[in-house]
Amino acid sequence: MAAEFCLHCGARLQTQLIAGRERQTCSQCGFILYRNPVPVVGVLVTHNGKILLLKRHEEPLRGFWAPPTGYVEWDESAEQAAVRETFEETGFEIELDGLLGVYSHANTGILFLVYRGRICGGQMQASEESEAIGFFAPDQLPAQPAKHSGTLLDEFFLDVIGKVITNKLVTTLD
Ligand SMILES: [Zn+2]
Repeated sequence: MAAEFCLHCGARLQTQLIAGRERQTCSQCGFILYRNPVPVVGVLVTHNGKILLLKRHEEPLRGFWAPPTGYVEWDESAEQAAVRETFEETGFEIELDGLLGVYSHANTGILFLVYRGRICGGQMQASEESEAIGFFAPDQLPAQPAKHSGTLLDEFFLDVIGKVITNKLVTTLD
């Protein structure tokens, strides 16, 4: 995300070439705004051979079926975030079973860490973030909406969902 003003002193930011890259910098205090992808966690929860999916109530990909996902907060580990998001979005308490994969693509702004998980408590409960929740056999996945907004993030996210559900590690987006 680009910013107009310095986060420290409020002066206007300028674009400067620093070590070969254009960065937004503050001419008053020297602050440099680094843009880096933000970590997002997801969990492929399987139960009796079925995959836990929820119908997203928020962008990106509102109305699409996806595993539980969310941002990592400052005061938690990626693993804690994965467990917390799954509980918040589905009502299930889970234990993680290791990392399924790391997915990234230039210019999407996110770095996707996806874990495997299994249910150890709780019960299915929709939330503000999930319109519906269900378990689906890998060969009976719910139909996705025909269209998304067409942003690179949407394309990437949908690609990751597909890869995660089918347990493939590499994204093919170009
Ligand atoms: Zn400043």
